[in-house]
Amino acid sequence: SKYVYSFGPGASDGSAALKNLLGGKGANLAEMASIGLPVPPGFTITTEVCTEFYDNDRQYPQALRGEVAAALAKVEAEVGRKFGDPAKPLLVSVRSGARVSMPGMMDTVLNLGLNDATVEGLATESGDARFAWDSYRRFIQMYGSVVLGVAHHRFEEIIETTKMDAGTIEDTQLTAEDWKLVVAAYQDVVAHETGKPFPQDPHDQMWGAIGAVFGSWMNQRAITYRRLHEIPASWGTAVNVQAMVFGNMGDDCATGVCFTRDPSTGLNEFYGEYLPNAQGEDVVAGIRTPRPLSKSYAKPGEISMEEALPEAYAELARVRDVLERHYHDMQDIEFTIQRNKLYMLQTRNGKRTANASVRIAVEMAESGLIDQREAVMRVNPQSLDQLLHPTLDPKATRTLLARGLPASPGAASGLVVFSADEAEMRAQKGEAVILVRIETSPEDIHGMHAARGILTTRGGMTSHAAVVARGMGRPCVAGAGGIHVDYGAKTLTAGGVTVRAGETITLDGATGEIFAGFVPMIEPALSGDFAKLMDWADQNRRLGVRANAETPLDAETARKFGAEGIGLSRTEHMFFDPERIGAVRQMIMANDEAGRRTALAKLLPYQRQDFIELFRIMAGLPVTIRLLDPPLHEFLPHAEEELEEVAEALGVGIEAMRQRAGELAEANPMLGHRGCRLGISFPEIYEMQARAIFEAALDVARETGAAPVPEIMIPLVGMKRELDITRAQIDEVAKSVFATAGRTLDYSVGTMIELPRAALTADTIAQSADFFSFGTNDLTQTVFGLSRDDAGKFLPKYVESGILPKDPFVSIDVEGVGAMVRIAAEKGRATKPGLKLGICGEHGGDPASITFCEEIGLDYVSCSPYRVPVARLAAAQAAI
Ligand code: ADP
Ligand code: MG
Ligand code: MG
Repeated sequence: SKYVYSFGPGASDGSAALKNLLGGKGANLAEMASIGLPVPPGFTITTEVCTEFYDNDRQYPQALRGEVAAALAKVEAEVGRKFGDPAKPLLVSVRSGARVSMPGMMDTVLNLGLNDATVEGLATESGDARFAWDSYRRFIQMYGSVVLGVAHHRFEEIIETTKMDAGTIEDTQLTAEDWKLVVAAYQDVVAHETGKPFPQDPHDQMWGAIGAVFGSWMNQRAITYRRLHEIPASWGTAVNVQAMVFGNMGDDCATGVCFTRDPSTGLNEFYGEYLPNAQGEDVVAGIRTPRPLSKSYAKPGEISMEEALPEAYAELARVRDVLERHYHDMQDIEFTIQRNKLYMLQTRNGKRTANASVRIAVEMAESGLIDQREAVMRVNPQSLDQLLHPTLDPKATRTLLARGLPASPGAASGLVVFSADEAEMRAQKGEAVILVRIETSPEDIHGMHAARGILTTRGGMTSHAAVVARGMGRPCVAGAGGIHVDYGAKTLTAGGVTVRAGETITLDGATGEIFAGFVPMIEPALSGDFAKLMDWADQNRRLGVRANAETPLDAETARKFGAEGIGLSRTEHMFFDPERIGAVRQMIMANDEAGRRTALAKLLPYQRQDFIELFRIMAGLPVTIRLLDPPLHEFLPHAEEELEEVAEALGVGIEAMRQRAGELAEANPMLGHRGCRLGISFPEIYEMQARAIFEAALDVARETGAAPVPEIMIPLVGMKRELDITRAQIDEVAKSVFATAGRTLDYSVGTMIELPRAALTADTIAQSADFFSFGTNDLTQTVFGLSRDDAGKFLPKYVESGILPKDPFVSIDVEGVGAMVRIAAEKGRATKPGLKLGICGEHGGDPASITFCEEIGLDYVSCSPYRVPVARLAAAQAAI
């Protein structure tokens, strides 16, 4: 096979299509050259050579040397210079380049081919001795540190001393004579550190650099980076050898990096930085402060390249257009200008913020550069999360408590809690909480999930809290070292102010600020480009998208984000309200059905009101209401003092209270007396809930004229008989409510599929069900036989060591849980072809899981309100 691919003006062997073989850099250099852009000629040694090199005990393939020599000769002919020629030397750069850009690989070596003889030739020929000696010292420094492993600071020290002796602060002020001295000193350092003189033969230099690139593929930094980013070692890296062009030949020379559009806002403006009279590494190394490329980005006093080098800028602006039209995407470009002539040294699709990503996709579609479907594919659904969170009202007054790192965007107010369990407990009661920890660990995940925001006093941008919060889309301020947390006293102290558990604070995850008390917020703007993109997504998706919501606030948010109904309304969340919990507990304490009915009668008006509000917000849309699911003991207080309080309030003895709590305690509540098992033991509970639903629906139908479509969902069904019994009760209630009202209403009764038995007997269960909703949280627990509440102790290890590819509670386990869903869907539809199928649970908002739902033909996904746009976009991408 061919090991070496040449590129150059008008005649490249490769192209952008050969990215796997040539690496990203090499493939795009070839592509740019063949579309007529000014690329200095060169050649790429393929990634296959890297792979063979490691397969064969670090030996190059036989044919390589010959192919390199031929390709080098071609470059020599192209530029009219010879490698190692003392009169007119060819200099090259040696650059690594894998398929994906990869920090940890060898740094680029520039000016290779210089030695004690060619440097003189370069000086004479260019008429600029200073430039020649500056290039030589750069080369020795780079080659010395990158290829020969001499410590970087050994070189820096010499420059510092030279500048001190010369009395200057800028490198650019040093003369040819100064650089000559530096070169001599550098050569001494290399000889001293490596025991050998600096290599003078340009071919030795080149093979040394090529060997260093391939060698760096297996250095520790690269290995670690590959592991973190799931890049296989078998991909290998390519090596690019390219004729040098010089940005350091004077003031009509420059080097720079730019983006064809602003990568932070997406604005269609040429955005970048450049340095006059410099070589590439100067921009990165931060020795000098780069200047803005365009006038529009220049601050007063700054001279942009547009003004300093207008002709070269105009040429670059032309290339910008060519590249965007050719690649149909925003490009990240590296260039050099030698005596006013532009050379292109790299291009690739540019990284951008979520905001910029949306704007660029929409504007490119509107200008016809890409079509709408392509625009929909361009935006990562997960990244939308960053755009959907509220921000603090800039006009609101606020009291700053402390500052930390802006670890995850969005603003949140809530009651301070200091443990994950407390966060979860209070959130279940509908309270907004901020979880405050010194640092977090995998055991805190449930609390982080339950919290509106997360604050830690230790750790950086990549700490556990920061990474997990970003993943969940929770605002997070990390590493706020100025705050002292006292878990024992349940307080946090900052600058003399003490905040207790249960008091309110506000976080701004975008700035890292922490404020005392509540600060008003502004909802994100969902108009403009965002709305357009979502509209295009909607036109291209098949799956419906609903929300999991029970409070009016959540339902409204869901509507605003485009939810097409509610896929899961958990009625037990309504039971925790302080006004109602008393009646719930009274019901639990009652000795007989009559007692329970008395208590339930008190709850009925509350439940009815809840549903009225939901139905109003979701007017005309389906609303799936799940009847009571959790075991009853969850509604009883846990602490002894609280038990006493409740006993007193209910007028029962503390002993009776304790006894009842004892009776209800279960060894394994997840698999205990819950779901439809409750409805079968205490039919009056489901009767009350059904009554509340029908009465509310009739009310809203009369009020709005748009009849709601209640979908009543029975949880934890494993056998058809369970559904038959509960369904019969519901139909009975419907009949009686409709008779009283003198009106009827469409409704359906279905079941949650969350037990393996239900999935496996779905054909039978479907006979009694109008719809299935896959409760994939519980289904994951029951299919794996692992408890979500205890998984924190071992699941992270499973993911880390590759036993599981991902957390199956975040992204559906296609192989196991997915198979169960597929079986149930097929069996269900075999019985009832039109059976409506949906998914609720965390997976409904996860793009990978949504792709799976599209594949097996579900009707809709349902997810938390803030994930609705993510789901809409992911559903469209799954369908395209
Ligand atoms: P990285 O992958 O770290 O960006 P590159 O191989 O792109 O490394 O090289 C970094 C910089 O070195 C380039 O942006 C460019 O400024 C400079 N450079 C590389 N090759 C050449 C060349 N042939 N002529 C002039 N400058 C070069
Ligand atoms: Mg580069
Ligand atoms: Mg469940």
